[in-house]
Amino acid sequence: MATMGVRLALLVAAAVLAGFAAGCGRSTGAAASGSYNVPAALKNYVCPADATSVGATRSGPRTGGRLQVATTVAPITSIVAEVAGDKADVRGVIPEGTDSHTFEPKPSVAETFSKADVVFVNGLHLEDPTKTLAARNVPKDGQVVDLGDHTITPAQQIYDFSFPRAGGKPNPHLWTNPPMAACYAVIAGGVLAKADPANAASYRANAQAVKARIDDLDQRFETASATVAPAHRKLLTYHDAYAYFAAHYGWTVIGAIQVSSFEDPTPKEVARLIAQVKAEKVPAIFGSEVFPSKVLAQIGTEAGVRYVDTLRDDDLPGRPGDHDHSYLGLMKADYVTMISSLGGNADALRTFDAADVTPDRAVYPQ
Ligand SMILES: [Zn+2]
Repeated sequence: MATMGVRLALLVAAAVLAGFAAGCGRSTGAAASGSYNVPAALKNYVCPADATSVGATRSGPRTGGRLQVATTVAPITSIVAEVAGDKADVRGVIPEGTDSHTFEPKPSVAETFSKADVVFVNGLHLEDPTKTLAARNVPKDGQVVDLGDHTITPAQQIYDFSFPRAGGKPNPHLWTNPPMAACYAVIAGGVLAKADPANAASYRANAQAVKARIDDLDQRFETASATVAPAHRKLLTYHDAYAYFAAHYGWTVIGAIQVSSFEDPTPKEVARLIAQVKAEKVPAIFGSEVFPSKVLAQIGTEAGVRYVDTLRDDDLPGRPGDHDHSYLGLMKADYVTMISSLGGNADALRTFDAADVTPDRAVYPQ
C-alpha cells in the first residue's frame, strides 16, 4: 500500500493559467488546457545513438559467479530483468506501491548495493536518496547507471505544474513513453554486455526483443488512440506520471492532483478544477488504486464525469510471478483504462500479450 503521510496538493492547469508556474513560460493564452511547455526537442524523439555504448567495460562479474544487478522502481526492475534473462541476478530495492518520490531506503539496502556489479536508477531526481546510497556503497569496480540521463537530454526534460522549473526537478516518468522505455532496455543491454562480456550476445539480443515488444505496444496504442475523439484525448490524473506519454501521442495533460502535500486543496481550487473539467468536456478523470483521492471523486461527481481510480504509476499489476506483473502489463493496463474510459476502442491493446520475453527471475520487494 501507499506510504502514508501522504498529502494532497492541488496541482492544476488552472494554477498555470493564474501564472504560478515559474519558469514554464507563463501562459499568456486563455486556453483552459495544456498549459505547460512540451520542449520542441521532444518532437520525434529517438533513443540516442550512443545508448548501446553506455557503461564501463569489465572482464566479468566481480565475484566470478553471476552478474549482480540492483534496480530501483518496479518498471525498471522488470525491463532490466527481461534484458538480463537467465544470465544475471536482478534485485529491485523500492517496494511496489510505495511513493517512489519520497522513498528513503533502509540502511540494509546498502548491503545489496555493496554486492552489485551494476545499479540501474531512473534518475532525474526520482529516487535521489536511493541513488546517493548506491553511489556510496557500490564496490570500487561496480557502477551506477542513470537511465534517465542517457535517454533524454536536458533540453528534452519536461517541467510542468507538478515539477516546476523553479524546483529544479524535471518530471522523471520517462517509462510511460514507450520509445523512452525501449531506450532503457537498449541502454541496459549495452551496460550488461560490457560488464559481463561472456554473455554479451544474450543481453543485446534480449534488449532488442524487449524493444520489439514495446514497439508493438506503441503501435497498438496509436491504433486505439485514433478511436478516441480528439477532444477527449486529455488526462486529469492523481499523479503527474503521463507528461512524456502525452507528448509522444499528442495528448494533453490538463492537470494533476498529486499526493505529495499535507494540505488539502482549498474549496476555491476544487471549484476551479470542477469548472475546468466541465469546460474540457472530458468523459472521465483518473485516480489510482495506490493513492485513493476523495478530492478527485468529488470533482468527478460535481463535474458530472466518471472517476476511474485504477491507473498505476510504478506498481505492476498482480503479484511477482503473475502473467501481467511486468512493465508491459503495467502499460497495457493503464492504456486500456485510458482508452476505454475516454470513449475509445481498446481492442488493439486488449489483445496484446504482456508476457515477458524471458522468464522474470527478479526480486520485487512488496
Ligand atoms: Zn511518480
